Amino acid sequence: LGGSISRAIQQMSNATIIDEKVLNECLNEITRALLQSDVQFKLVRDMQTNIKKIVNLDDLAAGHNKRRIIQQAIFNELCKMLDPGKPSFTPKKGKTSVVMFVGLQGSGKTTTCTKYAYYHQKKGWKPALVCADTFRAGAFDQLKQNATKAKIPFYGSYMESDPVKIAAEGVERFKKENCDLIIVDTSGRHKQEAALFEEMRQVSEATKPDLVIFVMDSSIGQAAFDQAQAFKQSVSVGAVIVTKMDGHAKGGGALSAVAATKSPVIFIGTGEHMDEFEVFDVKPFVSRLLGMGDLSGFMDKIHEVVPMDQQPELLQKLSEGTFTLRIMYEQFQNILKMGPIGQVFSMLPGFSAELMPKGREKESQAKIKRYMTMMDSMTNEELDSTNLKLMNESRMMRIARGSGRHIRDVMEMMEEYKRLAKLWGKMKGLKIPKKGEMSAL
Ligand code: GDP
Ligand code: MG
Repeated sequence: LGGSISRAIQQMSNATIIDEKVLNECLNEITRALLQSDVQFKLVRDMQTNIKKIVNLDDLAAGHNKRRIIQQAIFNELCKMLDPGKPSFTPKKGKTSVVMFVGLQGSGKTTTCTKYAYYHQKKGWKPALVCADTFRAGAFDQLKQNATKAKIPFYGSYMESDPVKIAAEGVERFKKENCDLIIVDTSGRHKQEAALFEEMRQVSEATKPDLVIFVMDSSIGQAAFDQAQAFKQSVSVGAVIVTKMDGHAKGGGALSAVAATKSPVIFIGTGEHMDEFEVFDVKPFVSRLLGMGDLSGFMDKIHEVVPMDQQPELLQKLSEGTFTLRIMYEQFQNILKMGPIGQVFSMLPGFSAELMPKGREKESQAKIKRYMTMMDSMTNEELDSTNLKLMNESRMMRIARGSGRHIRDVMEMMEEYKRLAKLWGKMKGLKIPKKGEMSAL
């Protein structure tokens, strides 16, 4: 009896060691990913400590998919870190609100001010823009240009050098005009930092903003915490907007900004254009931080429904980011069969929402079949090429004739192909799981 008890204890401790090893390996991998995504070192360490508390090693010992349990815990923990616990002040349509934008020069304030105004204008608001940046030459012109393009009223001056005065005048004017969203753009640079923060304090005092938004460039990296904190100390920052999310940076600094300001991220900027602006969504953001692409749950789904023997090939193709017409053909076949991979691809935003809208499955199927008939008239060279220029007009004519369709149809299909290729390209660099690993994280 004694022998079997000690054996059992030994087995138990062995199991724990093994699971602790899995946990540590997993945490190390993720730590690397997060640091590469510019998440502040201290926050990564806090996350590690929390995860070790949360993940119950006994559960791990009993659970089949250890990595999955750990991965989920980390994912949740990061989502929690982006949630300061209370929502930001939200302006109400028809009721006057003053929103002041702060952030360092180049972070994207002026651009984001206009995007924010335009976003609300489209929803029926009456926004207005005030340029309180008298420091940078050309600042007023830039705001004026943006505002004019979006047909948004603006206020500023070429002559006046006192930002506090302009801000107060602009806000007062637009209050009289019954604008419901008065947006104050500020300067981000000063010869002396202390002077900038003093200026922000004064502009804030003069305009009494309902909300101060800290604008942060996604690529500022480890500097995010100090920057956000410095602004928070001079004005009461209540929300964060992360810009340039269309670039390479993953925006891990956002976690720091949330921690430093105790305010949520509310929007992200995804390009230089007015409409490249999105409501912040935690899950895709965290997926991206972890290097999972911006399609949360996608990898999980692959592991869940794609047969083991087909996973490596599919993941390999995804990680290469190249999307040929042949791959599209194969995926169409899968979608039509609604086999396992078809289910996975129905999770991709582009595949599901646009190619297969809900309630119009029949139509979509007909479209896919039509595309496939046209692709049957393609040469191997065309199917395997990654060169978009290859498909010139004469080739498209030939395909149209060969499949009894109009060239218009071939062109439409090529547009669809380009759209899907772009989507597919987002998965590039996806980390391929090593043999025997359950998770791709
Ligand atoms: P400010 O100095 O803080 O007012 O920053 P600006 O609004 O002048 O922006 C600085 C530069 O960043 C400009 O060239 C903008 O076009 C660019 N920019 C701003 N937001 C984004 C974004 O979301 N994506 C990209 N790609 N560029 C952006
Ligand atoms: Mg500016």
